[in-house]
Amino acid sequence: MFESWKEKLSCATQCHRCNAKLGPKDQRILSVFDHEPICLPCKRAEEKRPDYEAVSKEAIGTCLADVEVAYGDPGGYCYHHFYPFTCN
Ligand SMILES: [Zn+2]
Repeated sequence: MFESWKEKLSCATQCHRCNAKLGPKDQRILSVFDHEPICLPCKRAEEKRPDYEAVSKEAIGTCLADVEVAYGDPGGYCYHHFYPFTCN
């Protein structure tokens, strides 16, 4: 069941935050707050939140712990919270 996270997250057709449409080639990134795919303008807004730094540090820790037991592609899952990616 965990193999599908990448497909589900990376090929989301709309931003979870603002519902903007995301095409296969549009960049998206995972929220450190709810781990849902969001568009880059939403990510920039997220980064301005006062608790972003604390939450993102926590997300890295949680993500690495989760990945170790649950995901086969730890780099991808963790990095997708901090580096924009496309559906490919
Ligand atoms: Zn958005």
